[in-house]
Amino acid sequence: MHTVLVKRTASAFQTMIKTRPKQRSNKVIARLRNHAEGSSTKFVEALSHRMIQALGRTEPPFQTEAFEYATLAGAKVIEADIASAGLMSVFNGRILIEVNRNDTPERKSYTVCHEVGHIELRRAAKLLAASTNRKAYRGRIVNEVSSRAEERMADQFAANLLMPEEVFREKAKPLEPSLENAISLARMFRTSLGATLRRIVSLGVWDCVMIWCTPEKMKGDDEWAVKIQEFKSSMPGGGLSYPRHKYVWWGGKAVHKAFVSDLVVKEMLVIDDKNWRFEGRREWHYVRSVGRQNRVMAILVPAVAS
Ligand SMILES: [Zn+2]
Repeated sequence: MHTVLVKRTASAFQTMIKTRPKQRSNKVIARLRNHAEGSSTKFVEALSHRMIQALGRTEPPFQTEAFEYATLAGAKVIEADIASAGLMSVFNGRILIEVNRNDTPERKSYTVCHEVGHIELRRAAKLLAASTNRKAYRGRIVNEVSSRAEERMADQFAANLLMPEEVFREKAKPLEPSLENAISLARMFRTSLGATLRRIVSLGVWDCVMIWCTPEKMKGDDEWAVKIQEFKSSMPGGGLSYPRHKYVWWGGKAVHKAFVSDLVVKEMLVIDDKNWRFEGRREWHYVRSVGRQNRVMAILVPAVAS
């Protein structure tokens, strides 16, 4: 399927109907609770596995710019000027996925899979069909109103579709933990660096910590603190503990250096008497109603002092 560029006009979606989205989206989770009993992760795995099988690919990339997974889900993808990464809607009985046209191809691909996750979850909950048949629901299903649990499941779904566990492990395991290797995995799987690092850490393929952060200038002198936006560790109990506050005092200079550079910045850091290899690169992030914001995506790998 090819995508078409559309400029969002006020008239296009004026038939928007106000439903009680909160209630409805909680219904998705409520209805799935029985299936997902015990582990929603297992349920999402089974659901996404079926789709990977249907796709029939065994080597990355699992999705190209043709958005194969959307086709499998029976959805049409359009690129639009929207204030978020993506939107899913059912319009006149057709499922539409809108992706932010300003995003990179990798992010668009992830967004499509995230929305496909919503579609499949709602299908499994038998709520999507109902919504297309009833006039009252012939409006938009705007995804930001779905519950957090559903969002988490849609994210897991997207990670599974684009980086199926077995294949991803096989490709990532032999590689040395480094940002460069994460970048080449991202290229191989056609995923963003952030999504790739999250997958590495959540599957525990490498022993490392990923941080998504910004440098914060301290008043008066040339000191930098680090504001942590996201912190994920694959090292159980070992090494670095999750910062209790959003700010940490280590790595400020390195994070700042990466923030103002186009290159991967590497530095050795001592944190709580332990040695770490810091590797970071600037990545932008889409913030609602603000637009693009730069952050630093970094990994910390335990190191032996030289
Ligand atoms: Zn969502």
